[in-house]
Amino acid sequence: MRLPLAPATNPTIRSTIVVGGGLAGISAALALVKHGVHVTVLEGRSRLGGRTGSFTVEHPQSGEQECIDYCQHVGMGCCTNLKQLIGWLDQEDAWQTHRQLHFFGPSGVYRQLKAWPLLPAPLHLSGWLLKWPGLSLRDRLSVARGLLAISDLPLNTATHAQTALAWLERHGQTTRAIKHFWSTIVVSALGEELSRASLAAVAKVLQDGFLRHRDAFHLLVPTRPLGELFGTLAAEQLRAHQVDLRLNSPVSSIDYSSNAEIRVTSGQQSFTADSLVLAIPWHQLGKIDYGNDTAGLAQVAKSCGQLQSSAITGIHTWWDRRWFELPHAAIVGRLCQWVFPKGNLIQTGAIVEAAKALQGVPSPKPARAEHYYQIVISATASWRGGQTDDLAEQIHGDLGEVFPAVRDARLLRYQVVSDPQSVFSISPESYAWRPEPHVTPRLMLAGDWTATGWPATMEGAVISGFRAAEKLLRLNPSQLNHSPTPSIVRPPLGL
Ligand SMILES: Cc1cc2nc3c(=O)[nH]c(=O)nc-3n(C[C@H](O)[C@H](O)[C@H](O)COP(=O)(O)OP(=O)(O)OC[C@H]3O[C@@H](n4cnc5c(N)ncnc54)[C@H](O)[C@@H]3O)c2cc1C
Repeated sequence: MRLPLAPATNPTIRSTIVVGGGLAGISAALALVKHGVHVTVLEGRSRLGGRTGSFTVEHPQSGEQECIDYCQHVGMGCCTNLKQLIGWLDQEDAWQTHRQLHFFGPSGVYRQLKAWPLLPAPLHLSGWLLKWPGLSLRDRLSVARGLLAISDLPLNTATHAQTALAWLERHGQTTRAIKHFWSTIVVSALGEELSRASLAAVAKVLQDGFLRHRDAFHLLVPTRPLGELFGTLAAEQLRAHQVDLRLNSPVSSIDYSSNAEIRVTSGQQSFTADSLVLAIPWHQLGKIDYGNDTAGLAQVAKSCGQLQSSAITGIHTWWDRRWFELPHAAIVGRLCQWVFPKGNLIQTGAIVEAAKALQGVPSPKPARAEHYYQIVISATASWRGGQTDDLAEQIHGDLGEVFPAVRDARLLRYQVVSDPQSVFSISPESYAWRPEPHVTPRLMLAGDWTATGWPATMEGAVISGFRAAEKLLRLNPSQLNHSPTPSIVRPPLGL
């Protein structure tokens, strides 16, 4: 399929092929189409959304189906670009902001953490230091010193080159402060352990996510399945914007040897355009044939292939009773970091029966309720059990010590979903392997793994897509400058 091409001498981008329909590809496609570019998206799978997806679980007895996310995703108040994408997709109503965080210490001490009123950042979080569970006075003082030192740490080659743990140890952090404070914040934000995460990545999370702006730490939580938000609804939005969306279209080759056009092959079809955004994961780059590879894309693929991966595990659990009433729980010093209840009641009869009772219809059988909780373990390498049964048992034991009500609750069933390539590992080495988007003036890379400065997050993926689009549009400055949004990438909160 031939798309409108810009003459070789004209810098204006007329047509772009976006390969990969995750958040990076969706963001690039929307940004380009809003600036008058004809966009074709080629996505290998039957749905958009990439790593933000959902699956259907069938109740073993009733056969009822429910749609749950492979793994709970949350954004933060500092995710300005993710919020922009949510706005473009018209999905503001489908995300909830949690302005208070609910923390549970290793033995169940509960602390509600919120910003102190009136105090400017970073003092608004002073109360956290006083209330953080599981720390002694000495630990708290060491955390305060560490936060002060990290608050204006530059994000440069030196801070990228060292691990966070080495720095924390050098800066007098106590063992308990490292385990109960730093690990709690960092492991779930980065999907990596302190001993492997780079210092710059930790500084970025602390500076952007907590210290720079009063609202940065808020949690942004989807209230509908991600497969719906970034899958079906995003596809509807792209089509409504006249994006030519091709699902089930894995790309096998890209030829960008001609100055005039880029040619992409998927199955028996070939597509041409005057520009391309390659928005597939780092571990898929090497599977594409780059033909007469003049600018070394194959070499880029080889170097990015060295990025290590880290697993995040979602444990989907169904219980015979509710044991926890808050919108989320962050757990300190245990194997799992987060617990999210979903809805109030999973509908295995009880809601239906309750509704009938309200309408005066006699209930033929006793109501049966199941209560769903998703438990998240980031940097799953720390789980060395190997067997899902062991994992479920360990989680049950851990939760029982944090939430006394769990001891009386029966775990009816569970499902473990873990992807060893959930995210790239934000190790010191990753800095050298994360590429800038620009391959040629008309060929851009996008994806959470590119050099966005962010760890592997939805925000990082969206930034990469916006940035790739912006770079293409800047080839002809009037294409961007004459638009109502001359800069597509949004700055972080507080900058
Ligand atoms: C378990 C888990 C939990 C997470 N939790 C969070 C969280 O709480 N908060 C957060 O911000 N982030 C979280 N993340 C990270 C977040 O999901 C990713 O950073 C983000 O979705 C990456 O988007 P992407 O577009 O860069 O890549 P992807 O989502 O991987 O999209 C790439 C797309 O390219 C397609 N593709 C691949 N090869 C080809 C080909 N040859 N041709 C055509 N298409 C191709 C793929 O099918 C895919 O759709 C989590 C990730 C996982 C896995």
